[in-house]
Amino acid sequence: MKKVTILGTLMIAISASSFSSAVAAASNDSLTVYSTRKEHLIEPLFDAFTKKTGIKVSYLTGKGGALIERIKLEGRRTKADIFMTVDAGNLWYAATQNLFQPVESEIIENNIPTHLRDPEGLWTGLSVRARTIIYSTERVNPDELSTYQDLANKKWEGRLCLRTSKKVYTKSLVSSLIYHDGLEKTTDIVRGWIDNLAATPHAEDVHIMTSILAGQCDVGIVNSYYFGRLQAEDPNVALKLFWANQDSTGTHVNVSGAGVTKHSKSPESAIKLLEFLTSVEAQKIYVELNKEYPASQKIKADNLIALWGDFNQDKMNLSVAGKNQADSVSLMQREGYR
Ligand code: FE
Repeated sequence: MKKVTILGTLMIAISASSFSSAVAAASNDSLTVYSTRKEHLIEPLFDAFTKKTGIKVSYLTGKGGALIERIKLEGRRTKADIFMTVDAGNLWYAATQNLFQPVESEIIENNIPTHLRDPEGLWTGLSVRARTIIYSTERVNPDELSTYQDLANKKWEGRLCLRTSKKVYTKSLVSSLIYHDGLEKTTDIVRGWIDNLAATPHAEDVHIMTSILAGQCDVGIVNSYYFGRLQAEDPNVALKLFWANQDSTGTHVNVSGAGVTKHSKSPESAIKLLEFLTSVEAQKIYVELNKEYPASQKIKADNLIALWGDFNQDKMNLSVAGKNQADSVSLMQREGYR
């Protein structure tokens, strides 16, 4: 009888402890990510994280502006533990809207170079895209190419295609020119670009590439992964990337990235997810899925993008892309860059 009693007490103790850990799992061990990145890009990353840690990840995808407003409106009640988006300009904007809490993590600091992270730890870059020159291999000799600034040169008159100034990618690139060259010189560059345009600025990078292929223009500026996708479909496409500004400031890069929300209920698990996304395992998934460059310099890029050769990145801290954004927008408006 005594034995049974002891066993009975023991069993109660066990089930009580497993009950409390089940409660802990429900409250802490699940995360919610609000993301502007599409489902097919993020789901494999979250699945790998859950497999490793047991922490479940649910997500909500949408447009950046709407998700930022939603997190602000939800305030302390928000389910979002992490906000994830593309372009440092957008991450910077989210930070100015008080969305994030600072994160200090040796793992992230070891994996991601300083210029791809917010100086206050509010967000970190997770994948890199280079915004560089693309050209027709039929009508352009790469010896003619050098810098973003040079695309303002008369020799490109009627030969240039650009993305609209409304796109954050353009704003961030012009922000970097303001950082390196100052407002006055950047104004001249933007004016020169506009004078050289072969067509009204395009709504999509993909349209820039199709315009070059159609002979409407000879050179343009695009994000590397758009070319990567095109080249994966057609390895013989008559276009090539040229690494801009290799003898000066380096090629303008940008990131997709994320930060832990201010009102996250599980900041520790959220940091774990962010750390995982910077790991070699997750960085490989990024590269394979979207032809992006790893933000971590611990791994080599995908075979296809490795084929384009190594290049020097612009080491400007990407928070500057946000800080200079207002100047960049008003400059482009003044110059009539549509
Ligand atoms: Fe894009």
